[in-house]
Order: sequence, then C-alpha cells, then structure tokens
Amino acid sequence: MERNYTRETRLVQAGNRKDPRTGAVNAPIYMSTAFQHTGVGESTGYDYARTGNPTREVLEETIADLENGRFGFACSSGMAAIQAVFSLFSQGDDVIASVDLYGGTYRLFREYWPQWGIDVRYQDPRDLESVRASIKENTKALFIETPTNPLMQEADLDALGNIAKEHNLLMIVDNTFYTPLLQQPLEQGADIVIHSATKYLGGHNDLVAGLVVTDDEKLGERLFHIQNGIGMTLGAFDSWLLTRGMKTLSLRMEKHQQNAAAVSEVLSTHPLITEVLYPGKGGMLSFKVQDERLVDPLLRHLQVVTFAESLGGVESLMTYPSVQTHADIPEDVRIANGVTNELMRLSCGIENHEDIISDIKLALEEAERTIQT
Ligand SMILES: *Cc1c(COP(=O)(O)O)cnc(C)c1O
Repeated sequence: MERNYTRETRLVQAGNRKDPRTGAVNAPIYMSTAFQHTGVGESTGYDYARTGNPTREVLEETIADLENGRFGFACSSGMAAIQAVFSLFSQGDDVIASVDLYGGTYRLFREYWPQWGIDVRYQDPRDLESVRASIKENTKALFIETPTNPLMQEADLDALGNIAKEHNLLMIVDNTFYTPLLQQPLEQGADIVIHSATKYLGGHNDLVAGLVVTDDEKLGERLFHIQNGIGMTLGAFDSWLLTRGMKTLSLRMEKHQQNAAAVSEVLSTHPLITEVLYPGKGGMLSFKVQDERLVDPLLRHLQVVTFAESLGGVESLMTYPSVQTHADIPEDVRIANGVTNELMRLSCGIENHEDIISDIKLALEEAERTIQT
C-alpha cells in the first residue's frame, strides 16, 4: 500500500528500515569494494562498489524520490554530475545554456567541451523569444540554472519546458540553489535535474558531492552506464555523510530563508549598499557595495560570516564572485552580465539573524573608515 508522505518526512526517514538484519535506524556505511558471489551467475545485487554500493544507493533513492524521478546518481562532485550528463551528447551537438552560470560550469563548457566538438551557446533564459530563436537543427538541450548564481535571476521553467518539448530538446536544470524543497524541475518539464550536493543538500560545509536525477527510463539507463563506465561515483562514507546532512534539510532551509529575508531587508536600506538581489526564496542573496574599495576591508572585518567560496552550509559564507567563483569568465563578458566588481554574494547560514546583520554592518562601518583614511 502506497502512502504519500511529505518531503519533510521522507527526508528524515532516509535510510531508515533499510537493514533488516540489524534494524539499524541509520543506514550502515558499507566500506566494501567487492561483494561475494555464492556461485556462477549468482549475485546479491551488489558486485563491485563502482557499479553499486548499498550506502550510495540509499542516497540515490532518496534524491530520486525527492525530485520525483525514478533514477538517481551520486557523483564525486557537482562538476562530475554535470560532466556525466554532458556525456550524453556527441560531436556536432549544440546546447543552449543560461548566460549567468556557475563559474565552474562555464569553465567546463568553454575549456573542455570544444575539444569534443560540442557547442555551448548562452542565452538569458528569461528571454523566451531569444531562446526559441537560437534553437538550431543540431540543438539537443537547454541547460538552465535557476535562480542564477550570483545574480539570483529566476527562469520560467514551465515555459522553457514547453519550448524544450516543442523542439524535442532535453531540459537540464541545475537545482542547487533552491533544492527539491523549493523547486521540483521534473514537474515543470525538465528531463534531468543536477545538484551540487556540496551546498544545501550536504549543508555542513564538510563534503563535495553531486547528484543527478531523471524519471526517463532510457536516460536513466544511459546515465547508469556513464556513471559506471566513467566511475565518478561518490564513495560510501561521503554518501552516508550526505544522506545524514539531508535529513535536516527542511529545518535548515526554513532558517536559511528566514535569515536571508531578514538580512536582505536590512541591507536594502543600508547607505553603503546600492542594490540587494534576493528573489524572495531560499538562503542566497547578492548585493552591491557603493565603492569597489569597500570590498577588501569589508571581508577582512567579518567575524561571524566567513570569507570563503561555497554556499548552502550552516555557516554563513561571503564570496566575491568577480575574483572567486566567476574569475574564469572574461572580464568584459562578466561585467556585461552584471557580475561587477562591487558585487558580493552571501550564503546566509543558520546563525541568529541579528548576529549576521550586526556582523555585516560593523564590517561595513570599518570598511568605510578604512577607505576614508
Ligand atoms: C558549486 C556549484 C556547482 C559545482 O559543484 P561542485 O560540487 O563544487 O563540483 C555547480 N552548480 C552550482 C549552481 C553550484 O553552486
């Protein structure tokens, strides 16, 4: 009998009741490369850990279930997940990607895909007519990040899903920022969802991992062969750590979101801040300071927020996209896209929001004093 539980409950229950021998409430970590066969042609379902590991499987079933897909794949990083999905394409294929894109994704597309003869072109996914107009005969997919990083622009996935369907394109969505709790792309026309699970899903700034989900049987089969063939699989320990982190995702997201809303409200009236980019959902926001010279002293004087290059963990982190995450994008392209030298990105952690706010305010005050002297 199928009963429908909420994502919140399914998250917490991940791995529970998976070990009938002991009844372990927390799925065990299977640190085993190989699994014994009792005879020729016989297998427990596990043979070799690259192909399948019970701990990784718990994670893969959990993410598939959360994203409303049947097939989940755990990879060694978000980039490995993207590379796995792009291994579906062949020489001569063309892909249209969001113009405002995670810097590492952009670097992979620019530095490595041309040598395989795969073209990636960029469009603003909010401009549906331009997306439609740029589709060519050999276009095979749309690669969409929403909201975008770091400009926090949201795309209309339903509309893009319709365009993809009309032109027989795969729609691939990087759902890292919103997580399946705030956005379920497979319900909006996506064929494949990707996560950098390093971020909100892991949630504790202590691991690097990527996840891929599809509900399409053929794609699932091809992705399984890619995962097993290339071997960018996530190890058992990190699979367990990630599943453990995911159990508290709903509580964390609630707090991340409350904090981001509170911080964006205060920053939007701050005299040294000219613009706050917060889509009203999730825990990420970006803002522009009045003067580029404020950036370094601001980062130096933070005490609660850490100047570091990631997001989605319980600890608040601030990033300077133009020299960190987006440094590989040519300067003119970067600035034309809006990633200017005044832009800062904040991943609101789950500390008390008053502490985050006062930390940023005090650091801004110090920064202002520094540039005046
Ligand atoms: C971090 C990130 C990635 C890359 O993931 P890694 O786990 O760092 O390899 C891809 N997309 C987005 C949106 C990200 O934030």
